[in-house]
Amino acid sequence: MNVNDTEIAWSILQRTGYQRTADINKADVVLLVTCSIREKAEQTIRNRLQQLTALKKRRSSSSSTPMKVGILGCMAGRLKTELLQQEKLLDVLAGPDSYRDLPRLLREAQGGQRASSLLLSLEETYADIMPVQQVPRARSAFVSIMRGCDNMCSYCIVPFTRGRERSRPVSSILEEVQMLSNQGVKEVTLLGQNVNSYRDLSEQQFSGGGSSSQQQQQQQQQQQQLSRGFQTIYRPRLGGLRFCHLLDRVSRIDPDMRIRFTSPHPKDFPDEVLHLISERHNICRQIHLPAQSGSTRVLKAMRRGYTRETYLDLVTNIKTIIPGVSLSSDFISGFCGETEDDHQETLSLIQEVGYNIGFLFAYSMRKKTQAFHRLQDDVPPDVKQRRLQDCIALFRQEAARLNATLVGSTQLVLVEGVSKRSAAELCGRSDGNMKVIFPKGDEAFQPGDYVQVEILSSSSQSLRGRAVIRGSLRDSVPP
Ligand code: SF4
Repeated sequence: MNVNDTEIAWSILQRTGYQRTADINKADVVLLVTCSIREKAEQTIRNRLQQLTALKKRRSSSSSTPMKVGILGCMAGRLKTELLQQEKLLDVLAGPDSYRDLPRLLREAQGGQRASSLLLSLEETYADIMPVQQVPRARSAFVSIMRGCDNMCSYCIVPFTRGRERSRPVSSILEEVQMLSNQGVKEVTLLGQNVNSYRDLSEQQFSGGGSSSQQQQQQQQQQQQLSRGFQTIYRPRLGGLRFCHLLDRVSRIDPDMRIRFTSPHPKDFPDEVLHLISERHNICRQIHLPAQSGSTRVLKAMRRGYTRETYLDLVTNIKTIIPGVSLSSDFISGFCGETEDDHQETLSLIQEVGYNIGFLFAYSMRKKTQAFHRLQDDVPPDVKQRRLQDCIALFRQEAARLNATLVGSTQLVLVEGVSKRSAAELCGRSDGNMKVIFPKGDEAFQPGDYVQVEILSSSSQSLRGRAVIRGSLRDSVPP
C-alpha cells in the first residue's frame, strides 16, 4: 500500500510543479510515507527522522531554502499531535486521505507554519489520480481498488488509521489498467486492505428496507457472496459490482498481462471468484489466505469471523477448484491469551495446509485496537519469539518440501531483471509468485518477457532452472 500511496502523493505533487531528486542533500522537501501496522515499522520511521534532523540542521545553516520534512500515511493519522510535539523537525503531517491537500500544506510550511490534515474520509479513493510509477518503464504495477477496512479484527490498527471500507469505481480502475497495458506493463496487482470485499456501489443503489421475502432474498445473496461457512462481523453491503465482476473485466483488458491481488480476507472467496481464477489464464493461480492463527479460540479473540475448521474447508475448496494453486498466509505468534496448545494448533495448520510463502510476526499490541481495550497482552516476549521461530522453521520446511515438487516441471516466468547475486543470471516470478533464477544464456531476454523455464533445483525461497524457450501468457494452459 505504501508504494501505491507514494505514487498517488507524487502524482499530486508533480501536477503542482514539484520535481523529484534522487539526492536527498538537494531535496527541499522530504516526505516519509508510513505504516503503523506494527511497532517496528514506526520505529524505523523514528530512526529515519533522527537522521533527517541532522541533515535539516546542516541545510538551515548552509542554504537559504530550509528543508521541509513531512510524514504521510497511517503514522501521521495515528499519532497526530503527539508526533508534532515529539518531533520538532516535522513541518507537515498528512493522513492517508489527505494527499490532495499536500500542495496547500507545503505552501503553509514554506510560510513557516507547521501544517496538518488528518481527517479520514468515507469517500476518498483517489479514483481520478493516475499514480506515477516510481520506476519508469517498470513491467509490474500496483493498482489500488479500494481503501480502508470494516472488519475490526481485534489486533488491528488499520480501521483506525485508514478508515472505513470504500471502493473505487470500476470504470476508473479499468482506465488505469488499460493505460498500464499501453505502457507495456505485464503484471498488475490489485491492491486493497480487504481487496476481495471490493464493491462498487457508485452506479447502483439498493434500499435497505423491503418486504420479508425481499429481506430473505438479500440474506441469500449475502451468503452466496461469502466463502462457504464464513460470516461477516459487520452488516455487509448488497448490490453493486463485486470483486468477481471487477476481476473478470480487468483480466479481459490484456491477455498478456498477469493479474494478482492482495491482501484478501478468507471470508470473501465465494465459489464464483475461485472458478474465475481457475478458468482465466492470466489470473495467477496464487492466493494469499491470511489465517493469523490455527486455533479457533484465538481466532475468536481476534474477531476473524471463522474457525479453524471453516478455514480448512475453504482451503480444500480452493485446492479442488484451482488445482496446483499456490497459497501464502499471515500468522501472528503470541496473541493475547494464546496458550501452548493454541500454538501447537497453529503449527499443525501450517503443516496441514502447505504454504509456499508466509509472513510471520510476533504480536505487538497497538493502542486504540479492541485488544488494547479488552484483552491482556499476556504472552511474555521471549515466549512470543520462541513460538515465532517455531512457526518460521516449520514454514521453511514446508515451503522447501512444496518447492521440491516443482523440480522437473516447466514454469512460465515473467522476467523482472538481472539477479541481485549474479549479473550472469536473470530473475523473475512464476505464476505461483515464486522467485525463479536462471542463466541469461544466449537469448537476450528483457524485463517483461515471458520465458518457459525448466526447474532444476529448489530451496524454501526460490527455484533455479534453465530457459527452454521464449513463452507467452496466451499459450499457458492451467494445470
Ligand atoms: S481484515 Fe482485519 S487484519 Fe486485515 S486490515 Fe481489516 S481489520 Fe486489519
